[in-house]
Amino acid sequence: MKKRPTLIIDHEKLRSNMSTVIGWCRESGIDVAGVIKVTTGMASVALDYEASGAKWIASSRLEQLARAKAAGVKIPLLMIRVPMISELDEMVQVCDYSLQSSLDTLKALETAALKNNRTHNVILMADLGDLREGFFEKEELVDVAKYVEDKLDCVHLAGIGTNLGCVGSVKPTEEKMLMLADWAQAVEDAIGRPLEIVSGGATSSLMPVFDKVMPPKVNMLRIGAVVYCGPLEDLRTCYGREEADVLSDEALIFETEVIEVNTKPTHPIGELGVDAFGKKATYIDRGRRKRAILAAGRADYGDIDDIVPMLEGAEVTMASGDHTILDIEDCKEQLRVGDIVRFKLKYSAILRLTTSENVSLVEKDALNGPQA
Ligand SMILES: *Cc1c(COP(=O)(O)O)cnc(C)c1O
Repeated sequence: MKKRPTLIIDHEKLRSNMSTVIGWCRESGIDVAGVIKVTTGMASVALDYEASGAKWIASSRLEQLARAKAAGVKIPLLMIRVPMISELDEMVQVCDYSLQSSLDTLKALETAALKNNRTHNVILMADLGDLREGFFEKEELVDVAKYVEDKLDCVHLAGIGTNLGCVGSVKPTEEKMLMLADWAQAVEDAIGRPLEIVSGGATSSLMPVFDKVMPPKVNMLRIGAVVYCGPLEDLRTCYGREEADVLSDEALIFETEVIEVNTKPTHPIGELGVDAFGKKATYIDRGRRKRAILAAGRADYGDIDDIVPMLEGAEVTMASGDHTILDIEDCKEQLRVGDIVRFKLKYSAILRLTTSENVSLVEKDALNGPQA
């Protein structure tokens, strides 16, 4: 038996979720890049996405793309964090596509590609208001596109793209997608040929797909979150969209062990200072209630709002770095010391758990990995 706590990855569910998402996109003429950064780039997940029909494997970290390549992924790899100049040499060796937003980097990329005898494909980013990476003015993007097209021999202009719903929380509305299509048209007019790729964003850009308002020019989405989290992802929890409800939210499950069961007051007793993280907390007095302590905590998963107990009636009330307090007063099922409590996971909890050295990984139905 694996040491607890345990993160269980159900590859069959991940593949099924990815296939469903790819099906939605295909109806709108969109290909999917499967984003692997949330599980810290597990190569087994990259293989799942390739098997499900993704056209690219994408990550924000080169190490993760290199792992996917070493594991035998055959489809093109896409670097989705605008690269550092210091990693260009490695990047051209590891992957075929990258997102770009600086002329200086593109010039350095030409040198790196030439030196390594490669042709590297770039997608120039347009910042349509979310204020992360990308050219902010259409004219500048068109000028840089023309420069890449005319002046760089080893850098191929594959297309343009955008990122929304991230640092600036801007929604990928029909208007924003039409703007992207318009910028793509301006580039095509300037270079005198069609672009291969117009990349419309991430999971949140599924909304215009659901609404069937995606402009025909947009033909790629870079999808991560919804495949891992299903209905626990923002499409449902922030935007109230129900479409993702058909996906499984049990592709990744966290298993913890009960180390104490007791009935205690819900309000601390004594003069209150700060909690283990130096924060002043407020406590609601609900009288004495039955609770369990689990041997896992914020050092493993981060924030208690990002884990969802699968035990009916249970509620996470407090946590330290290594303890989680679960209110079980309203549970039908009785818990005892040594029992297991399982949790569904939101995005940031998955990100944390896959990097925690205290958490054992169990892979179910991996295409080429250990079976459990
Ligand atoms: C992380 C990321 C994505 C994937 O976003 P999800 O919301 O997980 O689908 C897509 N594009 C870029 C540039 C990213 O950094």
